Amino acid sequence: MTRKYLLSDAQLPERWYNILADLPEPLGPFMSPRTLEPLTPPDLTPIFPMAIIQQEMSAERWIEIPDRVRDIYRIWRPTPLHRAERFEKALDTPARIFFKYEGTSPAGSHKPNTAVAQAYYNAEEGVKRLTTETGAGQWGSALAFAGTFFDIDVMVYMVNISYRQKPYRRALMETWGATVVPSPSNRTEFGKSLLSADPESPGSLGIAISEAVEDAATRDDTHYSLGSVVNHVLLHQTVIGLEAKQQMEMADAYPDVVIGCVGGGSNFSGLAYPFMADRLAGRSKTRFIAAEPAACPTLTRGLFAYDFGDTAGMGPVVPMYTLGHSFVPDPIHAGGLRYHGDAPSLCLLVKHGHVEPRAYLQNECFAEAVRFARTEGFIPAPEPAHAIRAVVEEAIAAREAGEPRTILFNLSGHGSFDLGAYDAYFAGKLEDVALPQARLDAALRELPKVAHTAGTR
Ligand SMILES: *Cc1c(COP(=O)(O)O)cnc(C)c1O
Repeated sequence: MTRKYLLSDAQLPERWYNILADLPEPLGPFMSPRTLEPLTPPDLTPIFPMAIIQQEMSAERWIEIPDRVRDIYRIWRPTPLHRAERFEKALDTPARIFFKYEGTSPAGSHKPNTAVAQAYYNAEEGVKRLTTETGAGQWGSALAFAGTFFDIDVMVYMVNISYRQKPYRRALMETWGATVVPSPSNRTEFGKSLLSADPESPGSLGIAISEAVEDAATRDDTHYSLGSVVNHVLLHQTVIGLEAKQQMEMADAYPDVVIGCVGGGSNFSGLAYPFMADRLAGRSKTRFIAAEPAACPTLTRGLFAYDFGDTAGMGPVVPMYTLGHSFVPDPIHAGGLRYHGDAPSLCLLVKHGHVEPRAYLQNECFAEAVRFARTEGFIPAPEPAHAIRAVVEEAIAAREAGEPRTILFNLSGHGSFDLGAYDAYFAGKLEDVALPQARLDAALRELPKVAHTAGTR
């Protein structure tokens, strides 16, 4: 009864889908961190190649995937789509549950979809070294993996708490040839200033971004690479949803609900946007649910405002839901979901009611991840455990309403590198952190004063 929907190599998408062509209102311009006026391409050339800058600002609906990128994608793509019938049975639900499985990539998550594309465009423009940040380690591994195909040296600033929790992630990156340092580090001025204030700083994604940007901006041979949040990353990830659309057709199904977890928004958007195109065009009434951690509740409790993408205030200022760039989330095991903001296009879709955000505590997510592992076999990474928690809510709602319902979610990565987190869960050592409003208010007082309005809710 295992139902698995596979595409042939020939069905690998030839183009990515750019939602900027179809948004209900144009995205507010990204601002320069120095002037707080709209960014121009020359502001970005020290850290990004021209091809990426063009994609970041493009409103073309379809963008061709270069042949060399498709060649490398074929190492693990197209990825399978599964029907989770055993999980459905365990939940005693009339809902049909499908999942797209991105854990088949060599790095174990969806992140190589953009890492390979970014390494390609940098190599085409003669770049020899890339810096980046990583939280749980998935993004650093993805870029380290991509670097090997294009002779690019990869330098990874890894959030300190994750560096300590996930030593095998570091070994993985080093196996692919990358250099990895804990962030904050003494390699950058910003890192040094933080370490002198708090030598035990757990770090955050925002801090690591700042270090990686500082490193790239101060060296001619080096560019910077981002694993989530920005438009071009979401664009590259749409290969997930474009495949899933073909596979749902093979299954003779169309989702009533699409679900994903959200750290910066890339795996969610990658699966969701090709289906969102149908909703925005009035062709479907599909609902979209973005699942985030209660310890870092950007979409459910943040403010829609202009804020810095990074903690040091060096990167672009963008319109998004934010907890404030100075917000340092409590250390939870879904390290990839500990970011203070989210992708601007996703935030806009939340603001317009096209995406419904929900926040979950980590223990309830692990409980469902374990149920999933014991029925479907795959061990989810802690991040998509949040998506599975939302899936269960929908499946139970379908049972209570006595309605059929087709649910599609993104299993964005496997948990084989995160068994320490499962160990902590089984030992009852995971804390459910409820974020006090006062801490949120304090971080939100430090938003930059941008004249252009982002709109508020
Ligand atoms: C990084 C990561 C996430 C969170 O990042 P998004 O950009 O929101 O997708 C989710 N799942 C996995 C497996 C990841 O590696």
